[in-house]
Amino acid sequence: MSPKRLEDMYDAVIVGAGAAGLSAALGLLRSPEVAELREQGLDPKILVVSKLQPLRSHTGSAEGGIAASLGNIESDDWHWHYYDTIKGGDWLVDQDAAKLLAEYAPETVINLERQGVAFSRTEDGHIAQRRFGGHTRDFGGEPVKRAAYAADRIGHQILHTLWQQCVAQGVEFAEEWYVTDLVLTEDGSQAAGIVAMDTHTGKIHAIHARNVLIATGGAGRLFHTTSNSWDLTGDGMALALASGLQLEDIEFVQFHPTGLAHTGILLSEAARAEGGILRNAEGEAFMERYAPEHKDLAARDVVSRSIMAEIDAGRGVADPKDPNGPKDCVWLDMTGIDPKRMAQALPQVVETIEQYANLDPAKDLIPIKPTAHYTMGGLPITTDGEVYRWDGTRRTVVDGLFAAGECSCVSVHGANRLGGNSLLDACLFGTRSGRTLAARIVENPAGSPMADDASDELLTAAVDQAADMRNQELDKLLQGSTAAGQSDHGEGDENAYALMARLGSIMERALAVRCSADTIGNALEQLNTSIRPAAEALHAHDKTAAFNQEVTAIWEVRHLIELAEAVLQASDARHESRGSMRRLDFPERDDEHFLAHSMVSADGTVTFKPVIITDYPPKKREY
Ligand SMILES: Cc1cc2nc3c(=O)[nH]c(=O)nc-3n(C[C@H](O)[C@H](O)[C@H](O)COP(=O)(O)OP(=O)(O)OC[C@H]3O[C@@H](n4cnc5c(N)ncnc54)[C@H](O)[C@@H]3O)c2cc1C
Repeated sequence: MSPKRLEDMYDAVIVGAGAAGLSAALGLLRSPEVAELREQGLDPKILVVSKLQPLRSHTGSAEGGIAASLGNIESDDWHWHYYDTIKGGDWLVDQDAAKLLAEYAPETVINLERQGVAFSRTEDGHIAQRRFGGHTRDFGGEPVKRAAYAADRIGHQILHTLWQQCVAQGVEFAEEWYVTDLVLTEDGSQAAGIVAMDTHTGKIHAIHARNVLIATGGAGRLFHTTSNSWDLTGDGMALALASGLQLEDIEFVQFHPTGLAHTGILLSEAARAEGGILRNAEGEAFMERYAPEHKDLAARDVVSRSIMAEIDAGRGVADPKDPNGPKDCVWLDMTGIDPKRMAQALPQVVETIEQYANLDPAKDLIPIKPTAHYTMGGLPITTDGEVYRWDGTRRTVVDGLFAAGECSCVSVHGANRLGGNSLLDACLFGTRSGRTLAARIVENPAGSPMADDASDELLTAAVDQAADMRNQELDKLLQGSTAAGQSDHGEGDENAYALMARLGSIMERALAVRCSADTIGNALEQLNTSIRPAAEALHAHDKTAAFNQEVTAIWEVRHLIELAEAVLQASDARHESRGSMRRLDFPERDDEHFLAHSMVSADGTVTFKPVIITDYPPKKREY
């Protein structure tokens, strides 16, 4: 699908069609303000741009559930959810945002149900709920069933439902359009629009808009081993850096302990709950040493760190697919599980192992390693979804610029996210940002007699200029190629895919699960001496612009490089261990100096912003 009215000024352009982008579009269109506008015969002009067909967005991969204290199975209270979220985030959570998250979670889930999400049901017809790590009753007591689910495909259900609702509302989509630039006015105070390439034709478009919302998802592709889909290259975060904005708490990346080696695909915790055991090269069930009480079922970050400690101590194993490769895995031993029980309780795990590793979990040991799963940080936003700058003392909102979902940081996840809270974040804060947008649009709708033409001209000029520059760059990328399939740069030159793999390995060695000043310093050096020059020399091997996926891959790897630098700089500046981040050289949490959000810019400057604490002062960390 391509948009019809491109030459016009849009009221709002939304970049991203996952749970966050689609929730924002629906929040906007269903607001009372827009209903009133429509009664006056004015229809807001909204465009949703997505580099993928919307139903391929990563939201569709979420299996487990969405958290809400519905209390359908066991008694629950949103205050408990609120507390768990703060504690799970190791107290780096802004409590005003977490309060909204927990308080409005039940309403968010019920709204999803009313729109058509087919949740699993209890026998008496209520939405079914299951347990997820870290969700408790009575402020840290016994576990509670809080995650509403739809078999093992909650994300698929949510994504399809929201998309169908958008189609019903007549939302205009630009599908398989890749956004290359976020454009602000010259003084950086206001959003002006975006530049995007229609990948079907290879044509660059200037898209003018009074409001822009970034909902581009996470950045798992920073690491070689990730559970994220191929498209999660942190584009929105890199676009923000490139337009002079900061990223908040970007050093916090959650790793899931059991990713299938070399694919990163998640093997659910259920594999260990059913009796799977982690073993090192010597066959030792090493979790007994690190967590004598919970062993293989200790918290995710504890298991991930223990696996990396074994690998660092030389007790790792090589992936059987690459026997001479690095010994950077450990074994998951499921051979003790009764094969019948395995087929019944773990069908998805068994299928993944058979199809992607060609191994039989009833007989073979399975190579696994921690896999990059979720980006806690991102574009800093207010609880109404507005992107802001931090000058060391106060926030200044960028007019007309919004963000939502995994690419944003409203700071509900702090230093570590609780399972089930990210779909909730994307749907709830996505909807809220859509409503804020609606209120702005009503003040000054495009095409209305109130439209401010002089200011529109300024915005238009800024976007047109950015599009011209992007066009020139595209020409250069294509000129670097000769005939189809050939390169005039000699054989040694690198392609974007190989470079992405190299960057992923560097980041993995530097930051996966644990880091230190040395690992960060090494990575920064390699980034600047080897990766950046290689990225600058990239060119497409085919002259054709239409469907030239190598061109978008070049932009993606360049985005990843800018983001990698920011993540490394923010990690370097945090001299403590907190949540998902373990610094070997600063093993303790340091509330006196680092109970604060990092704010990093493209030039590597890191400043800190206080955490909003309203109800629950930090408690000591429990291991
Ligand atoms: C395997 C897996 C399982 C998960 N399970 C759960 C779970 O059980 N519960 C839970 O709460 N969370 C879970 N999560 C996390 C959760 O699914 C995500 O955080 C959430 O879906 C993110 O939604 P989003 O809308 O922000 O981004 P996404 O759904 O990733 O969508 C991003 C959108 O941005 C677009 N885009 C990106 N860059 C560009 C560009 N340059 N130009 C144009 N468009 C662009 C893409 O096309 C896409 O439409 C899971 C994640 C994974 C990877």
